[in-house]
Amino acid sequence: MSVDMEKLVALCKRKGFIFQSSEIYGGINGFWDYGPLGVELKKNIKDAWWHDMVRNPPPGPEGQEISMVGLDCSIIMNPKVWVASGHVGTFADPTRKCSKCGKFVRADQLWAILAESDWVNSLIQEFTPVTGHYDAPLLMKWAQGKGKKVAPNLALVRNPHVVLSFLATRVNGQPDAPPTLQEMTQYIATEQLEATGLQDPCPLCGAPLGEPKPFTLMFESHAGTEQTEDTKVYLRPETAQGIFVNFKNVLDSNRLKLPFGIAQVGKAFRNEITPRNYTFRSREFEQMEIEFFCHPDESMKWYEYWRDVRKAWYSKLGIQSERLRPREQGPEELAHYSKACTDIEYMFPFSDEPQELEGVAHRGAYDLTQHQKHSGKDMSYFDEGLWATSDKSAYGGDKKKETEAKKNVPFRFTPHVIEPSAGADRFTLAVLCEAYHEDTAPDEDGKPQTRVVMRFHPRLAPIKAAIFPLEKKGEMAVKATALYRELKHDFAVEYDDSGSIGKRYRRMDEVGTPWCFTIDGQTLQDDTVTIRDRDTLQQERMKMSDIAAELRKRLRST
Ligand SMILES: [Zn+2]
Repeated sequence: MSVDMEKLVALCKRKGFIFQSSEIYGGINGFWDYGPLGVELKKNIKDAWWHDMVRNPPPGPEGQEISMVGLDCSIIMNPKVWVASGHVGTFADPTRKCSKCGKFVRADQLWAILAESDWVNSLIQEFTPVTGHYDAPLLMKWAQGKGKKVAPNLALVRNPHVVLSFLATRVNGQPDAPPTLQEMTQYIATEQLEATGLQDPCPLCGAPLGEPKPFTLMFESHAGTEQTEDTKVYLRPETAQGIFVNFKNVLDSNRLKLPFGIAQVGKAFRNEITPRNYTFRSREFEQMEIEFFCHPDESMKWYEYWRDVRKAWYSKLGIQSERLRPREQGPEELAHYSKACTDIEYMFPFSDEPQELEGVAHRGAYDLTQHQKHSGKDMSYFDEGLWATSDKSAYGGDKKKETEAKKNVPFRFTPHVIEPSAGADRFTLAVLCEAYHEDTAPDEDGKPQTRVVMRFHPRLAPIKAAIFPLEKKGEMAVKATALYRELKHDFAVEYDDSGSIGKRYRRMDEVGTPWCFTIDGQTLQDDTVTIRDRDTLQQERMKMSDIAAELRKRLRST
């Protein structure tokens, strides 16, 4: 079943998963807030990642333990970091600005965006563009009527006589080569053909667009009171660089040996020109990144290890395999320094094509080499173990020769890096899409009723269990409160005593709570409660004293 995005977005707002940022002021494009349940869901995702990748990563290819540590770097760093990483100067999309209304359009997406624009769709009904034939009186009528409303700055609207005469000259002048739709659109966007040549129109108002200019995706600010070029700083566009620049600090302070990984979870910022698809392409987002440092000779082995570990992680947390599409990048897609890269993609309901959740990239020695070059600081690694066990007879005890040897391969080298880089918000959205289900479940009277149920993996569910006393007051409430107080030490649980039990189940189904415990008359006799399962709807009785241990068992990562 494909999820209806409108229904999901409505549920996310109604139940407090995701809100538009600054909604009472009309929102702000590309920014989102997580509500009370959303923050728990996203936190569970980040915690699961940290637990499964940093504290307890799966054994390596030969069954060995994997060495992983964490880091939490500042969002604003020395701007030289972004020069070394290549973000200053090249981290930009060619963008064109409208000369009248000021709208920005990504140059490479212009014709796709124009095809969706209101005025193009209105105009296209006036003529058959395929053959290049057009009806001048109809275009004139459009220009003087509807066109004034939908494309006030279009040349055809501002000066129809001149524009139509240019177009007639073109069509009559080359009867064997009628203009394409694109050329026709350029003609009706051009007022002074000789002076300017053919123009490309703004998708919003029709005015000519300026030349493509690089538009930097980094948010800028200033550190300090002076707002000059010298105090300019950037909000980090990725968390990875914080890890690279701390490589030596981490290595020296933790007695680490290759291979090992450094992990970081944190916010990153990109000034996307066209934020879209709900939270998928946002301007502020959270990353979960690992930089895994290894010996160059072993790098492909570790690349394969991380690619497989990361794919398996999504499946383990309940993503259906047919929607998860790992895609190995072809040689033409790879960055020049990269040996291999897999995009782990997910089939979101808002798109016909799978979209990236995570990239697992083999980055070679690129990043450490860049920072060594720009900072002048040594970023190499010395293999103590290899030196200790190597045959030193060739140096004949000459300390100088030994020192020289230790500076070079195979003893000293720049590690290679495997980078699994995941989006916390993107995975949260995938989890929401994956969880949304509508099915039928019997109500109080046994009649089948449609219900909305969020089938979250229990580890990710914002609320793990709910406790329902059958009666609001008296002994049942006392027992239920005691259970609630015991469980909330260790689990996100909720107490609900309002409405019928059936209604309480529905409320919990809608927010994806896996289990509900009901304290009833029998509890007062034998201290057992009913546990009801969200997905199977099965109910069984369990001793109250066993509940905490049972929950712990069910929520344990496997
Ligand atoms: Zn415009």
